[in-house]
Amino acid sequence: MSAAAPGQFPADRGAEVAFAGRSNAGKSSAINAILGRQGLARTSKTPGRTRLINFFELSPLERLVDLPGYGFASAPERERRTWPRLIEALRARAALKGLFVIVDARRGIGAGDEALLEWAMPGHPVHILLSKADKLSRSESRQALAAAVGALGQRATVQLFSAHARTGVEEAQRMLASWLGAQ
Ligand code: GDP
Repeated sequence: MSAAAPGQFPADRGAEVAFAGRSNAGKSSAINAILGRQGLARTSKTPGRTRLINFFELSPLERLVDLPGYGFASAPERERRTWPRLIEALRARAALKGLFVIVDARRGIGAGDEALLEWAMPGHPVHILLSKADKLSRSESRQALAAAVGALGQRATVQLFSAHARTGVEEAQRMLASWLGAQ
């Protein structure tokens, strides 16, 4: 289901894990690879629905929450105002167990990602997927990972990820399962 306002969120029961990232970071591809289902995150791509929070029911008491992409300065003012209100309400939910942030490995952690980390802290664990790792050489990947670990410190865990090459998919699946299991 899609929510445009906190009043439309599903009941705050069970466990849910949120996915966020800059627009085009590879979030939809990551969600589909981790869940092993194609097209699940496609709804969030439909024009006009990109500012909605999408809740996917994985089982009756387990949900994945697809947050709208951020980082487009060109987003209409009205949308930019709604976003903080939506994530504020999400953060307050007892069901929220953790947050995945998808960051393009070639870009590294940017200001928008930092803002999201602050938003999530200190209440929720954050796991960063350095996405599209297949676009980097082995040594570039190592450097990207080391730079992210240095920038994040204790604030988040981080791994390399590629939906296309299926790098790090199992590691991400284990994190998701551990958070969803922590009810
Ligand atoms: P979203 O906007 O964050 O949901 O990003 P998408 O999943 O739609 O991906 C944005 C673009 O990045 C698309 O052109 C994808 O094909 C590409 N992409 C996503 N994941 C990968 C990956 O693992 N490797 C490569 N090389 N490209 C990727």
